[in-house]
Amino acid sequence: MATHTVDVYAFFVNGANSSTNISRIEQDISKANSTWKGCIKFVLEGIYFNEDQIVNAGSIPSDGVFKNRQMDSQIKFARNVTGNKIGIYVFYLNGDFLAEGKGRKVVGASTTEVGYFESSTNYELFGHIVLTDKAAGRYTFAHECGHVLFKRYSETRNMFIHDDPSGPYINFQTGKRDPAHNSDQKNLMFPISPSVNPIVTSQQCQIAKQSKIVRNNIDKYYDFRNIRR
Ligand SMILES: [Zn+2]
Repeated sequence: MATHTVDVYAFFVNGANSSTNISRIEQDISKANSTWKGCIKFVLEGIYFNEDQIVNAGSIPSDGVFKNRQMDSQIKFARNVTGNKIGIYVFYLNGDFLAEGKGRKVVGASTTEVGYFESSTNYELFGHIVLTDKAAGRYTFAHECGHVLFKRYSETRNMFIHDDPSGPYINFQTGKRDPAHNSDQKNLMFPISPSVNPIVTSQQCQIAKQSKIVRNNIDKYYDFRNIRR
C-alpha cells in the first residue's frame, strides 16, 4: 500500500524558546499521525524559529486571518525560505486566542491557496495553518489539516470546494448547514475538535488521500518547472 505523505513546515513567531517549540510541533505531528493513521502520514520537513519576532494572535481577527498584513508577510517569508515547497505551513502565534471575528475563542484557522492552475485535474495547492498557544495539547492541528486536505476542484460544480465528504454539520439551534464540518461529536471535523481520539471516516480518508498536497499527487508540471530553474 502506498504511503500518502504530507510535508509540514513549522514557523514559530510565538516568542517561546526553541525546546518548548520543538516539543510543541512534535506533539502536534504525533496527534495528527495518530488521528490520520492508516491514511495520511505527516512528516516534519523544517522548523524555523525567529525569537526576535512575535506575532500576537490577539492582533489578528479570526474572520480575516489570511487577509491580515502580518500573516501575509509571514507566509511570503515562509514560502521563500522553503523555495515554494508543496506542503502544509503552520504558524505558531503568541497568545491564547485570535481576535474576535466570526467566533469567540478561536485557537486555529487554515486556508488552502491555489498556486498554478492548468486544468481541473492539474493544479497546485499550498496549505496554511495558524495556531495559538491554547491549541497546544489539542487536536486543532489535525483538524485544520483536514480542512486543508479536503480542498479539491469539483468537476460537477466547476469550482474549488473544501467540503467534509462526511458532512455537513448542522447547528441544531439555528438549523444552519456548515459543509466544511461534521455533525458527529467524535469526528475530527466536528466544529470543536474532540479532545480524545477523534475519528476520521473512510470517506474523509479517501478525499484527503487525493489532495494535491499529498506528496505522490503533486503534478509533474511542478517537477518540470523545478528542473528548468
Ligand atoms: Zn474547522
